Amino acid sequence: MTACLFDLDGVLTQTARVHNAAWTETFDDFLRRHAAATGEPYRPFDPDADYRRYVDGRPRLDGVRTFLASRGISLPDGTPDDPPGTDTVQGLGSQKNTLLLERIRTTGVDVYPGSVAYLKAVAAAGLRRAIVTASANGREVVAAAKLEPLLEARVDGLTARAEGLRGKPHPDTFLAGAKMLGVEPKQAVVFEDALAGVEAGRAGGFGYVVGVDRVGQADDLRAHGADVVVGDLADLLDDGRSA
Ligand SMILES: [Mg+2]
Repeated sequence: MTACLFDLDGVLTQTARVHNAAWTETFDDFLRRHAAATGEPYRPFDPDADYRRYVDGRPRLDGVRTFLASRGISLPDGTPDDPPGTDTVQGLGSQKNTLLLERIRTTGVDVYPGSVAYLKAVAAAGLRRAIVTASANGREVVAAAKLEPLLEARVDGLTARAEGLRGKPHPDTFLAGAKMLGVEPKQAVVFEDALAGVEAGRAGGFGYVVGVDRVGQADDLRAHGADVVVGDLADLLDDGRSA
């Protein structure tokens, strides 16, 4: 193994919670309107099960479509100009992004100290390092977390759109990350906290897939493609528990 491909939110930065809160507010607003319009009972977004299964790790608009499909709801795609809160896929996506950026601006971005220690250790060992995130705000989050000096390449939601890469659980973005670092997939380790993300790692034929379990879903991470599951990247620095 000569390269590391890191997911960002939930692996290096503590932004999974912020994403989750922004999604919950967005979907609950919509589901209340939908219940009022159809007379069906209001069933809120489940920030645990619904987030993990249908939203986490996926590109924003795929997250909207996948969750709504799980409730038997389909909305028109709309356009990127739809204002936040319009009942279209783009409108809900844009509301989520607005809420997310507000939260990042007001509260900043926290890193996982164990992940920073791990990044420093692999950099010192001469391993190549890239970020592979579905987030269209990848650059802002990396900068806010002050992680730029430790990373050599970035594939984010904007790269994916520009290059026509399919999002996780497809392996395209991780494959692009390996290519940017000039390594073959088998030489690269994928680090992911999302079910869609470890699935992408398995689908891409990477050398090793490390599932990072922040929320107690170790079995699900293994079932979706993780070769090993750790609670924090610092666990990989301890010889005794090393993978
Ligand atoms: Mg993640």
